[in-house]
Amino acid sequence: MSKQTDDFFKNIISHAKEYGFVFPSSEIYDGLSAVYDYGQLGSELKNNLKTYWWKSMVQLNENIVGIDAAIFMHPTTWKASGHVDGFNDPMIDNKDSKKRYRADQLIEDKIDRYEKDGKTDKAAQLQKDLDDALNADDLARLKTIIEDHNIVCPISGTKNWTDVRQFNLMFATQMGAMADGAEQVYLRPETAQGIFVNFLNVQKTGRMKIPFGIAQIGKAFRNEVIARQFIMRMREFEQMEMQFFVRPGSELDWYKQWKETRLKWHLALGADPNKYRFHDHVKLAHYANAAVDIEYQFPFGFKEVEGIHSRTDFDLKQHQEFSGKKLQYFDPEINQSYIPYVIETSIGLDRLFLTVLANSLVQEDLSTEERQDSRVVLKFHPAIAPVKAAVLPLTKKDGLPEKAREIMAKLKLDYNIQYDEKDSIGKRYRRQDAIGTPFCITVDHQSLEDNTVTIRHRDSMEQERVNAEDLERIIADRVSLSGLLKQLI
Ligand code: ATP
Repeated sequence: MSKQTDDFFKNIISHAKEYGFVFPSSEIYDGLSAVYDYGQLGSELKNNLKTYWWKSMVQLNENIVGIDAAIFMHPTTWKASGHVDGFNDPMIDNKDSKKRYRADQLIEDKIDRYEKDGKTDKAAQLQKDLDDALNADDLARLKTIIEDHNIVCPISGTKNWTDVRQFNLMFATQMGAMADGAEQVYLRPETAQGIFVNFLNVQKTGRMKIPFGIAQIGKAFRNEVIARQFIMRMREFEQMEMQFFVRPGSELDWYKQWKETRLKWHLALGADPNKYRFHDHVKLAHYANAAVDIEYQFPFGFKEVEGIHSRTDFDLKQHQEFSGKKLQYFDPEINQSYIPYVIETSIGLDRLFLTVLANSLVQEDLSTEERQDSRVVLKFHPAIAPVKAAVLPLTKKDGLPEKAREIMAKLKLDYNIQYDEKDSIGKRYRRQDAIGTPFCITVDHQSLEDNTVTIRHRDSMEQERVNAEDLERIIADRVSLSGLLKQLI
């Protein structure tokens, strides 16, 4: 990371904390590694992002419905899905610092360093060696690579490494009152399995016909070996997943379609298209016949925000085998029963949140010849902004607060509105800019005479005088989610 991008990333983290978007979990006890809490504005923003996703999936598509499955599932679910045996990361410990690392990430950091130093051939060769070792699940080879390339522990500076071992990422706990006889259950590492095990319940009760989809938003948990980069890699996070069930043979057409649909969804939020790219998986998981990531250019480089996977019939077939229950669909159009194929779209809500912060946070220089000035603005798309408008009486007297409260009382029925009468109007505008409020409504003495107010627009800082009666319409036009959803059709 260059100094400039490093500073920008630090600014995002401190701004998120200072204005009540994201706090470290249980901070008074010094926090818990890779666990975060969303504050008063963060939870509003998060809810708006969820609603945007949910409506785009469930409301815009007649053949997609949503569910809310439990976090705990029968433990056999995770045997069937392959998570008990295969959901591992290769880890290595440094014996001097007692710190644990992901072996592949240590090597990737070294590749980055070679690239930065202009040693591109060396970087390419190391990347190839890493891919080969991972593909072959060759843990001993990973260790040899670490030693051969003189990779040292960033804390102790030594090469005193343990062997590389596999580390399962699932959190396990006990269900039942007594430790003896209690059953080991897992905190789900993905929401998808809750959809697969409910496939027939939903298909039958919803009279769903293939192709159809099931969507879900919910928490997932992974005991990441090393967690870093703020809310990018957390141990408790939230996913928004949709499994689309299709006739075998048609899956790659649907895969292409979902790939385009999902990129369009991201871009509708107003980001620079150059900050997004597709990254096709070269090495496919054993159950997939196509997979791609949508990557966003974070301050620390292009990283996955969403995955789109053609998962074949792997999951349903596994659940059919492990449960002994038939998970087939009778297709009346071709008069055949089959296990459907699945296209999955899987996005991390927290990573999406981070893209939105990174896209929106701007420091603007407003200096003139007379004086130096600047402002910090969160230029959220109005439809996802946590606060839609602020109502500001110009002064605290002369009946202006009462008039402002009257306006607020009407608007708050539909929108999250803030009232603020403290400090100068300029300071209040800046406070609203910093939390991304698209409109400031100022009530002044003229408002008492002719019922007009000024609206100040966050991005242009322009002000216009409008009738207070028109406020609901003006705000609705600009902040409604339907404007955003229309771009997707
Ligand atoms: P990565 O390679 O970055 O670990 P993944 O390929 O394991 O991600 P998936 O299993 O495809 O991720 O999960 C789908 C989405 O869930 C990801 O695109 C990401 O947005 C989100 N996600 C996965 N792990 C985490 C995590 N530890 N913290 C936050 N979000 C996550």
